[in-house]
Amino acid sequence: MSDCIFCKIVAGIIPSKKLYEDEELIAFHDIHPIAPVHFLLVPKLHVASLADCDVSHQALLAKMLLLAPKLAQEQGLDKGFRTMINTGSGGGQEVFHLHFHVFGGGATIPKT
Ligand code: 5GP
Ligand code: ZN
Repeated sequence: MSDCIFCKIVAGIIPSKKLYEDEELIAFHDIHPIAPVHFLLVPKLHVASLADCDVSHQALLAKMLLLAPKLAQEQGLDKGFRTMINTGSGGGQEVFHLHFHVFGGGATIPKT
């Protein structure tokens, strides 16, 4: 087992508040939410970041993008939501296992 915190969440070694799981993906609530609803959509496969994806990840990335609005709706984000993918240290990424942030709720989120 690597040191990767999200691999440990995938393996159930670190607990999480899961809202979705299938054979390829998991979604769980962010431990430090920045909005009333804030969850992370994470592939079970360890890929460090979006910059480490190639054509072999195409179907997985498409699946993640298509799942985001479904889960957002289930979480009550019926007015919309924001998606964020931090990539690399220059992009503010802290956990180097690919993940999409999905968040919203409450007041409209400012653009900047
Ligand atoms: P990044 O900055 O890499 O895009 O975002 C990593 C996110 O993972 C942060 O929003 C942080 O709050 C969240 N996070 C880090 N460790 C844990 C954890 O152990 N459990 C959960 N649920 N979220 C975590
Ligand atoms: Zn990992």
